[in-house]
Amino acid sequence: MFVNNISLQHYRNYDQLQLNAFGDVNLIIGRNAQGKTNLMEALFVLALTKSHRTSKDRELIAFEQPSAHIAAEVEKKYGMLKLELSVSQQGKKAKVNGLEQRKLSDFIGSLNVVMFAPEDLEIVKGTPGVRRRFLDMEIGQVAPSYLYHLQQYQKVLVQRNNLLKQLWGKEASQQAMLDIWNSQLAEHGVKIVKKRKQFIKKLQKWAEGIHQGITNGLEELSLHYVPSFADAEEEDEAVLFERFMIKLSQMKEQEIRRGMTLAGPHRDDLAFYINGKEVQTYGSQGQQRTTALSLKLAEIELIQEEIGEYPVLLLDDVLSELDPYRQTQLIETFQSKVQTFITATGIETLNTDKLKGASIFHVHDGQVGS
Ligand code: ATP
Ligand code: MG
Repeated sequence: MFVNNISLQHYRNYDQLQLNAFGDVNLIIGRNAQGKTNLMEALFVLALTKSHRTSKDRELIAFEQPSAHIAAEVEKKYGMLKLELSVSQQGKKAKVNGLEQRKLSDFIGSLNVVMFAPEDLEIVKGTPGVRRRFLDMEIGQVAPSYLYHLQQYQKVLVQRNNLLKQLWGKEASQQAMLDIWNSQLAEHGVKIVKKRKQFIKKLQKWAEGIHQGITNGLEELSLHYVPSFADAEEEDEAVLFERFMIKLSQMKEQEIRRGMTLAGPHRDDLAFYINGKEVQTYGSQGQQRTTALSLKLAEIELIQEEIGEYPVLLLDDVLSELDPYRQTQLIETFQSKVQTFITATGIETLNTDKLKGASIFHVHDGQVGS
């Protein structure tokens, strides 16, 4: 797919912006704090209705303004889509070709993006929560039903945790309500876990080869789901359901004591191994960075495989961190297949001939010139 243009209104430090004539490769050049990441983020938000760097929508709206607006025309295999998203205190509204979407999950996936930014290193180095967020965002992009189950699961989880807190010190006869929440939790939890396992398997297939390419065949990367119930490999829904219910009943006393749900997809994790050793614990800085890069590049191929079209690639502040050889390799891999947006503080930090002919946009204090 291909983004033809974008317009922003009251989005972060952009008051009004209309950018046309994007090319296959777009360089967004500007000094620190001028609005490069904000522009990339706007594309990301248009794709996923959420930011990659904050969960607080209020931050997306320019200071002193009531709402922010993003619009873009996206060329897809089967025609052009005009996408519009408004963010205000009251919530978000999305339109496709002028038609308001009843649910945001109907809108997500109209545009697909893969963003690679320095903080993605946290997917490898950070807490399990970062990895769950990565899984949820990426799976949600290609499977809207996943988002539905995730939302339902989170609702049930809150209710169940409230009940657990109330049950402390109460008679066992008052625990009947817990059984109802257990089966609802398991019903949605199983769908989430199954989808995550399938996604990780597919991602592994691409990431392994890409990582071998980057490391000249020296490193074998593998991805593993770390479950809080049932075996990592188990995908049968009925078996998963049963295992989840058993786990919940085993943990009941402990859960009531602590007032929270201790097993389920909200406690699961994803682990990376290079040549059999866990990257988070044993990997060097370079190996951790390469792992994150391989993951992101694998996602591009996976989205292509799932939806039949390549997503748009957003490289925020990462290309200039690579040596000239890797810069060239990265651009070469996706040139003429994937529309790419690249930010940098100066054109001289990009050391590859492959960027000749790219469209250049200079950002200065929320204004963009060619
Ligand atoms: P760097 O090279 O340091 O990464 P950048 O060009 O990517 O810089 P951005 O992250 O896009 O910079 O931020 C640009 C400016 O936007 C910052 O000065 C920030 O204070 C401002 N900003 C962030 N949120 C808002 C907002 N809601 N309203 C107005 N300005 C904002
Ligand atoms: Mg930035």
